[in-house]
Amino acid sequence: MRAASSADSLRNPPGRRLRRGLVGFLLLTGCSMLPGQSAPVLSPASAAVGLEAALASGERSEFTRLFAPEEGVQAQANRMFEALSQFESVDLAGPDAAVMVDSQLVGEVGVVRDVVRMIRDGALIQRIEGMPQNRWLGPELTITERESVTVLSWAGSDPQAWRSAAEAALQRLRGRPLGPLAAAWQGRVIVEVPGSLQQFEQFVGGATGSAAQTAAATVALGPSDASSPVRIVVNPIADLTPAQRSATLIHEAVHLATRSPLRPAPQWVSEGLAEAVTGELVPSVAAQNRRLARAELDRRRRIAELPSDADFRAEAPTARAAYALSALLVTAMIDRLGRERALAVLAGLSGSGSIKPPTEPELLSWLTADLQAGG
Ligand SMILES: [Zn+2]
Repeated sequence: MRAASSADSLRNPPGRRLRRGLVGFLLLTGCSMLPGQSAPVLSPASAAVGLEAALASGERSEFTRLFAPEEGVQAQANRMFEALSQFESVDLAGPDAAVMVDSQLVGEVGVVRDVVRMIRDGALIQRIEGMPQNRWLGPELTITERESVTVLSWAGSDPQAWRSAAEAALQRLRGRPLGPLAAAWQGRVIVEVPGSLQQFEQFVGGATGSAAQTAAATVALGPSDASSPVRIVVNPIADLTPAQRSATLIHEAVHLATRSPLRPAPQWVSEGLAEAVTGELVPSVAAQNRRLARAELDRRRRIAELPSDADFRAEAPTARAAYALSALLVTAMIDRLGRERALAVLAGLSGSGSIKPPTEPELLSWLTADLQAGG
């Protein structure tokens, strides 16, 4: 007689339903107070203090005892301890119902701020939820620093080839000036190797599906202000030859060195510089860009305008030509203005400095002349 009994409960006077609710509440509270089963009762502020002290002293058990005893929660607490222990510095603060975690890598500009929500039941820290782009709360994270390359890799990834490519890229970039845009760069490259395509998409903040075609991206973490760290994130499923991998990391390292994700530059300026420098160091990249740009000139008869930002979208049919044309535009500037002045002009176009750039018709006439000249 289920139907009848549920109809009955709907007709119960309010007083009875309230009492049943209270009984349920008392039972739950009683459970969480059984001896040996509960974590200390903490406000977010004192939790932050306790977690930070345990991290600073390297006391894993002090850290994990602040969490509820359930296996899943303890596993998460252990992962969190291991991941955060690898950073150069970690600061925690506990405003309201969330804990703010500021983490910093060796030699990195600025800190990454994550806000994690501590889901609480009777003031117990039970399960933590972070922002989707959080780096240290999910799968196991390993941070390795060797010379000027820092690699962050997650469970399931194979970071070795990427580390080698980053070291090679850095070596080739040395002695190649990038001008005022790279004035603050200390010469360190930070590469993230996610464990899956899904994690890559989360880290680059791209819509699912569109990132699959991207080999790597350079992103600013945290609030997009001048102090945000900038890192290279590689696509773990990108199928690249060693030469392509190396060229990809040279391109991204130029973005990192010039902090291009944080600059208000048009895409043709930041992509053009990254691709032109890659072409200087990898002749096959320069040759391919020239072929693609020539084909574009043949198709359009005349290049009448600079590539627009929309032309660079990963899924746009114009993307390959836009990269190639931009590379040749920057190379044309370097050839005509000299490297130092060309880099100063590019800095001006990126919102840093006030040097007067060539006009658009002038730039396009240089590009066309270069494309029509020679083989
Ligand atoms: Zn790029």
